[in-house]
This record gives sequence, structure tokens and C-alpha cells, in this order.
Amino acid sequence: MEAPDTAGKCVLIVEDNLLNMKLFSAMVAAEGYGVLQAADAARGLDLAHQECPDLIIMDVKLPGMSGLEATRILKDDADTADIPIIVTTAYGLTGDDEEVKASGCDAFLAKPIGLSELVELIDVLMLRSVPEPRYVRRLIEANAKSA
Ligand code: MN
Repeated sequence: MEAPDTAGKCVLIVEDNLLNMKLFSAMVAAEGYGVLQAADAARGLDLAHQECPDLIIMDVKLPGMSGLEATRILKDDADTADIPIIVTTAYGLTGDDEEVKASGCDAFLAKPIGLSELVELIDVLMLRSVPEPRYVRRLIEANAKSA
């Protein structure tokens, strides 16, 4: 498969388990992506808006708001809806579960997560995502407001 151009691209990891955070960060950094880290959903939402990451890896069980709730919020917001989100959990959920589907996430990985599995999925989602639509949509909205 064609490897995506990782230059200047970054992945936001929302994960409260320190070992998983270190593991995922190392996997993502080894592929050439920049890494942003959030230990809870609230911080993850802030970083998603402030830093416009190119992809988000979202744990489900987090202190406070769950990762599925945070995913739904990001997907309901036009500013962040186009950021691909990979939901991960060790808690017996599958990608077919209604609450996972309802979150609007782009992909689901059950822990433990293999390196090749994660890297391949990130590559697929990165190649699929194009940065233009959000920018174009903002231009259209700006024009609509000024018209
Ligand atoms: Mn967790």
C-alpha cells in the first residue's frame, strides 16, 4: 500500500493509561507523525479544536466523559467532524456495538492493539482524509454570511 506523506501531520492520542499512551505514541511517532497527548476527554476536545490534528486515537474508558461521548461531540461539530477517529478499548466492545456505531467513529480497534494493525489503519484513514473540505466549507460559510 502507498504510504501517506506524514510530514507536518499529527495524531492526537486520548488515553488515560500511561503504558498505552507511551506505546501508542511510540508507534505513531515511528511512522513520522507528530504526537499530541490528552489524558482525558475534556483535554482531548480542547486539543482537537486548538491543534486540528489529522487523526485521533480515542480510548473509551476515560476519567469523566467517555471517549464515545467525546467522539460524538467531535463528529457533531462542523469544525472537527472530518477528523478521522479510531476508538480503542479493552472492555469487550466491538465495532458492531450500537454505542460504538452511534458515536460516529471512523474505525474501532480492540486492545491489545498490534503495531501493524494500528499503522495500517492510520495510513488508510490518512489517505482517505483530505484537508480541503473543512477549509472549503469554511469559505462557503463565510461567503454565505457576507452575501
Ligand atoms: Mn482508559
